[in-house]
Amino acid sequence: MTSPPVHGSQALFPVVDGNLVVGGIALPRLAQRVGATPFYAYDRALLSARVAEVRSRLPAGLQVHYSMKANPMPALVQHMAGLVDGIDVASAGEMKVALDTGMAPEHISFAGPGKRDAELLQAVAAGVCVHVESERELHALARMGDETGLAPQVVLRVNPDFELKGSGMRMGGGAKQFGIDAEDAPRALALAATLGLDILGFHVFGGSQSLKPEAIVQAQAQTVALMLRLAEASRDPVRLLNLGGGFGIPYFPGEQPLDLAPVGAALEQALPALRAALPQARLAIELGRYLVGEAGVYVARVIDRKVSRGQVFLVTDGGLHHHLAASGNFGQVIRKNYPVAIGNRMDAAERAPQSVVGPLCTPLDLLAERMELPLAEVGDLVVVFQSGAYGRSASPQGFLSHPEVVEVLV
Ligand SMILES: *Cc1c(COP(=O)(O)O)cnc(C)c1O
Repeated sequence: MTSPPVHGSQALFPVVDGNLVVGGIALPRLAQRVGATPFYAYDRALLSARVAEVRSRLPAGLQVHYSMKANPMPALVQHMAGLVDGIDVASAGEMKVALDTGMAPEHISFAGPGKRDAELLQAVAAGVCVHVESERELHALARMGDETGLAPQVVLRVNPDFELKGSGMRMGGGAKQFGIDAEDAPRALALAATLGLDILGFHVFGGSQSLKPEAIVQAQAQTVALMLRLAEASRDPVRLLNLGGGFGIPYFPGEQPLDLAPVGAALEQALPALRAALPQARLAIELGRYLVGEAGVYVARVIDRKVSRGQVFLVTDGGLHHHLAASGNFGQVIRKNYPVAIGNRMDAAERAPQSVVGPLCTPLDLLAERMELPLAEVGDLVVVFQSGAYGRSASPQGFLSHPEVVEVLV
C-alpha cells in the first residue's frame, strides 16, 4: 500500500470548495465544458510560468527550445511558440505543426534517426534546420541542395562518448541509433565539406528525465568540452551549439523537483570561455517534459466501483490506451503510482486504499494501485497529475477501440 504523494504538481493547481481548479475552472465545470470524459487539460498559465522560471534560472542569452514530441497538441505548441526561442521536431508531421505556429524556420530543428528522403526534402524546402544523424543524410541533403538550388541548413548530431548519469532514458553514449559517434564526427565534417554542405554547429543529447543537478552539470560540462573539440575539426564557423536537455520532473513518492540553480550557475561559469572560443555560436538547450509535464492533468470518470476480495476497484472510462505512462508501461522497470487524486473530493478527510483501473481487458490497465484516496463513487473525477508530457501521443489509442481522448488548453 502506498501513501498519498505530495508532489509539486498537486500544489500547482488550486483547490476551491473541494474541487481541483485547472486553468481557472473548477474540474466538474471543466468536464461539462469539455462535454466528455476522459480528457487531458493543460494549463496555459502554468506553461508560461514554467518557461519564465527556466529563463530566470539559466543564463541570459541561452536559447530555450521546446521539444514538441513531449506534447504535440497544436494549440499547446502554438502557445509555447510565443514563449520559447525554437521548436525541436522529430518528424515531418511535427514540423508542419511547428511551421503552422509561425515560428521562423531557422529556429525549428528536425532531429531523429531514419528521416525519409521526402521528409528531408520538406525540411530543405521549408528552410528548417536538419540535425543529421548519419552520413547517408549528408549525401541526401547535398543532393537535395543541388536539385532545389537551396542551401540546406545542417547541424551535426553527435552521439557523445558519455551519457547523462542517472537519467530515466539514455539517449547518448555507447552504441546508439542517434547521431554520429563523436569519434566519427571529424570524418563526417570532412565529408560535409566535400559535399559542399555548410555545417552550422553541433547537437548533443545525452539523456532525459534527470532529477540530479550534479549529473546535468557534469553532462553539460562534458558536452561543452566535446563541442570545443569538434569545433576545431570544423571548416565552417560554429553558429549553433545545442547542449540537449534532460531536465526531469518528479513523478513518484520521494522524488524531489530538480533544482535549477546549480545548473544555471555552472552554465554561467562556462559561458565566457565558450563565447571567446566560438563568438558566433548561439547556445541552446532543448526541453520537453520539463516545460509541459507538470502543467497537464488527465481526467477520467468513475463508471463503476467494485470490491473484489476486499480490494476496492474504481473502474474509470480512461486507462492505458490514453495514458500508457501512468499505467507504468512506457519505459518503467518497476510500476509505481503516478500522483492521483479524486478531483471533486480534494478536501475529503476520510481516505482508504483504492485501485483505479481502466475499461480495458488487461490487468496492465492500472492507473493507481492500492492508493490512499478519498472514498470515491460512481461519477467522481479521477485526476492523474504530471500528465502534460508523453500522454496522448505516447499511448496506444486504438487498443480495444474505445473513444479517443479529448485535449483542451485552458
Ligand atoms: C525527446 C527529446 C528531447 C526531450 O526530452 P524530454 O525528456 O521530454 O525533455 C530533447 N531532445 C531530443 C533530441 C529528443 O529526442
